[in-house]
Amino acid sequence: MEKKEQTVTMEKIVNLSKRRGFVFQNSEIYGGLASSYEYGPLGVELKNNLKKLWWKMFVQERADMVGIDGNILQSPKVWEASGHVEKFKDPLVECKKCHKRFRSDKLADPSKCPECSGPFTEEKYFSGMFKTVIGPVEKEGLVTYLRPETAQAIFVDYKNVLSSTNKRIPFGIAQIGKAFRNEITTGNFIFRTYEFEQMEIEYFISPNENWKKIFDNFLNQMHKFGELVGLDKEKYFDHNIPDGERAHYSKKTIDIEYDWLFGRDELWGLAYRTDFDLINHQKASGIDMAYTDPMNNEKYVPHVIEPSMGLDRTVLAVLSECYDEEEVGGELRTVLRLPKAIAPIKIAILPLSKKEELISKSKEVYDLLKSDYMCEYDETQSIGKRYRRQDEIGTPYCVTVDFDSLEDKKVTVRDRDTMKQDRVEISKLAEYFVEKL
Ligand code: ATP
Repeated sequence: MEKKEQTVTMEKIVNLSKRRGFVFQNSEIYGGLASSYEYGPLGVELKNNLKKLWWKMFVQERADMVGIDGNILQSPKVWEASGHVEKFKDPLVECKKCHKRFRSDKLADPSKCPECSGPFTEEKYFSGMFKTVIGPVEKEGLVTYLRPETAQAIFVDYKNVLSSTNKRIPFGIAQIGKAFRNEITTGNFIFRTYEFEQMEIEYFISPNENWKKIFDNFLNQMHKFGELVGLDKEKYFDHNIPDGERAHYSKKTIDIEYDWLFGRDELWGLAYRTDFDLINHQKASGIDMAYTDPMNNEKYVPHVIEPSMGLDRTVLAVLSECYDEEEVGGELRTVLRLPKAIAPIKIAILPLSKKEELISKSKEVYDLLKSDYMCEYDETQSIGKRYRRQDEIGTPYCVTVDFDSLEDKKVTVRDRDTMKQDRVEISKLAEYFVEKL
């Protein structure tokens, strides 16, 4: 088995995603909606597995964390108080020659168009929020926005969480959900889209707490999560965002940047939001957001550390990182070397031929395993093509039922990475996979 030099490209990732059902273009039959994608049967499994792992690491395994599921639509007062109406804006320039639009703060050289070197118009600020109207009559309706971050529901619900749980500061609230941004420049597949999913935590601490230590702990955990989902730690970098470039609410931000196939850019962010949000909601709502420490009766408005991790960017990083090609017997084998925990399908059950006895035996095996693992039963095409499909979608194990299986009650289990095959008794399969998976 000869390992070929890495030839992974964005084009290959996009093609595989579509061909195998990870990611589809949104509204494709109408020519597609720009920078909008949807997740297919395998994409949704991969995303669910990533979310499950994230929730396990950041909520289930921590006594100081709970979750919520807030709404996409909030009162417009939330976005006024949070500063998003006034400040969540990006600087836009338009090329006077080719009329392409760019976010000027993202240009290497903001003095001329990167496409045609033409001159730019003056910078204009552009809201990153999608406006919408609640109510049947547009003119009389309530104007609000689709949330550009999941965080605000957490700030608004923070007192409800305190009064309904036994949590005391320091503690955190986690949330996974959709966010929407009217981005000026989108692109690079699912890297920057209008609609995306975030996995966010607001971690509440005392203003006297050593925030740097908590900040660094989260940074470590984010790195660990990257490794857990198969990212190469050599490929991500902590970029400390300098004064003047941080979001309006942040006193310190580290962008965890990643070496994408198109260059280095942000994967996830970690910010010290101070008491900015709670103080602003307190002022705007008139509700006291202070916390009283039950140990010493000290009263304060908590400060907040926020790890914010884009799920779609995680999917793209994982697909790019795990995509591999190698030559086997003169043929190219494409393998998605996904960590087992996030592989969409854990076990594929494949009858060697479409003979009735093999099909019924295979279905028996499928029934035996399906409640514990996401399995796929496949009787179409040649066995070689079926192996190739399972390699491409990252299935760690294929179970083949052949004519001998009918006699010896054993099946062949093929390992995705080593391609080694084990002959395993059907009655011992469950035990075998408990160990393997
Ligand atoms: P960028 O500088 O790339 O626009 P940002 O600094 O505005 O990102 P944050 O506000 O920190 O991003 O959002 C937290 C996380 O949400 C990001 O680290 C990223 O993973 C994800 N994210 C933000 N915007 C998008 C988008 N348009 N498409 C997909 N994911 C996004």
